[in-house]
Amino acid sequence: MSQKRRLVFATNNAHKLEEVAAILGDRIELLSLSDIGCHADIPETADTLEGNALLKSSYVYKEYGLDCFADDTGLEVAALGGAPGVYSARYAGGEGHDSAANMRKLLHELEGQPDRRAQFRTAISLILNGEEYLFEGVVRGEIITEARGATGFGYDPLFRPDGYDKTFAELGAEVKNRISHRAQAVRKLCEFLSKTNHSPAHH
Ligand code: IMP
Repeated sequence: MSQKRRLVFATNNAHKLEEVAAILGDRIELLSLSDIGCHADIPETADTLEGNALLKSSYVYKEYGLDCFADDTGLEVAALGGAPGVYSARYAGGEGHDSAANMRKLLHELEGQPDRRAQFRTAISLILNGEEYLFEGVVRGEIITEARGATGFGYDPLFRPDGYDKTFAELGAEVKNRISHRAQAVRKLCEFLSKTNHSPAHH
């Protein structure tokens, strides 16, 4: 039997776990925070995506001694100097994750602004045998002027990736999961893990 590498993904977002598990395939046993009995609210207090990803991966490594990776994503809008960036979830204030309010605020900030360029960027911090590695995925596009489409989450209805005439929310999960910032970063992580996989036997 081949030895599976166990890896914690420092998230409890079932949607993300599923997306990442599909890309990683069955060579890796992916564990969520609740799978390892971690119910802490890990602070995300850094002012960069990389910093927040590292806070989460190193928390798990320090507390549980397990190989772990964590991600953090932000929408970076050129005309807003990269905002909302690391604050994307809480852009409209409050507890955060109010997508409708975040999108309203974004449209308001960009009113009359001809430069609508934006990118989603994901940083993944991996801690493997105590060493830290970083991976990045970026998808460029623009913020349209009115929400379109019903799939996805967050800012998807406002983001039209370059090369497509539909928003992420209109393109649907299959296309989005192929081209997205998170997919690109996870693929890099996956390539790295296959190169460093020294498990003794393949079956
Ligand atoms: P997280 O780091 O993946 O939790 O992402 C932080 C915030 O960025 C989310 O709450 C969303 O507002 C936004 N975001 C992240 N990924 C996406 C995406 O794929 N589509 C739309 N919004 C996203």
